[in-house]
Amino acid sequence: MVIRVKADRDRCIGGGMCVFTAPNLFDQDEDGRVLVRAEGALNEAELDAARQAVALCPSGALSLHESTDDMRGCEPQLDAVALRNDRRAASPSARTPERK
Ligand code: SF4
Repeated sequence: MVIRVKADRDRCIGGGMCVFTAPNLFDQDEDGRVLVRAEGALNEAELDAARQAVALCPSGALSLHESTDDMRGCEPQLDAVALRNDRRAASPSARTPERK
């Protein structure tokens, strides 16, 4: 199981709340629109930050998805990164190992 964070850059209105909330996951381009940083497996705190960023995004541009496939099927306007290929990451209470 893979959890992916997706950012619909067409819906992004800038402002950078996601960058403030989860700076390891998000960045902004020169126009202020979100970019998803390519990161490997996340620790529990980072995954929580990703969830918080999704909840706080004012435009609804961010979303988390569970998937059994890889990055195939992502629409071209979506910037996405796999967060973790561990089923336990889907549970907010799950303990995850530290990132190396
Ligand atoms: S919080 Fe949402 S609207 Fe704001 S920069 Fe991030 S993705 Fe865009």
